[in-house]
Amino acid sequence: MIKLNRTPKPIELTDAVKNNLTNEFKSTGKSVWNTDYIKKGLLSFSHNKCCYCETNIKEESKYLEVEHFHHKETYKDEVLDWENLLPSCKRCNGTKNDHDTKLEPIVDPSKIDPKNHLKYWRYRIKGSDELGKLTVSVLKLNDQDRLVKKRFEIGNAIQERLEQLNELTDDYINGIQRSTRRKNRIVNGIKDLMKEGLPSSIYSATAATVILTDTEFDTLKRKLNSVDLWDAELSQLEIHITTTALDLER
Ligand SMILES: [Zn+2]
Repeated sequence: MIKLNRTPKPIELTDAVKNNLTNEFKSTGKSVWNTDYIKKGLLSFSHNKCCYCETNIKEESKYLEVEHFHHKETYKDEVLDWENLLPSCKRCNGTKNDHDTKLEPIVDPSKIDPKNHLKYWRYRIKGSDELGKLTVSVLKLNDQDRLVKKRFEIGNAIQERLEQLNELTDDYINGIQRSTRRKNRIVNGIKDLMKEGLPSSIYSATAATVILTDTEFDTLKRKLNSVDLWDAELSQLEIHITTTALDLER
């Protein structure tokens, strides 16, 4: 989970439209929020990802659900309140179900930075305070099949790539392979890898955390600095992914 910057409400969602549709929901129970402009607006500020687990919800097999942070049946006046709507995958929406976020608050990633309440430990998310702990529990953020295994796959692939990049860099520094092609392969390789930790990438919190906490990354950065290959773009990428990464639980 990462902090999301909510965009202004869709222009189609005027106060009149909101009132009409809210009344329609109250009298018919119809899913009045299932409109293209609402879905498009929600996907735009979440980079097409689920606001909780960061899976891509634009993939064909997945399905965007308009999530009501304050549950729709309990807080009917808020069913079309833009601030109450979030883009979520079927799993997270179903898992959170009718949890009452006013009585027992959890992290709303459009308002609260999850980084301040969640930590990371061996592909598992842990709450660093009561708000974080309840968030992990309500959303089942350590769902073995759907989330922990996925984090492991992503993390393991990143670690392998970091090891390979270190080997390539050793050959470059030792003069075994000093071609421009080799240099570009190393620099572009680490840039591509770090981009997986940007907010626009799926599972960016996991990717950023794994990269920044792997000793292979520190080693690679030190080696690249020693031969002046750690450039301004890499420095910027490092600063950027620090915002999506979670701290490790110690
Ligand atoms: Zn999800």
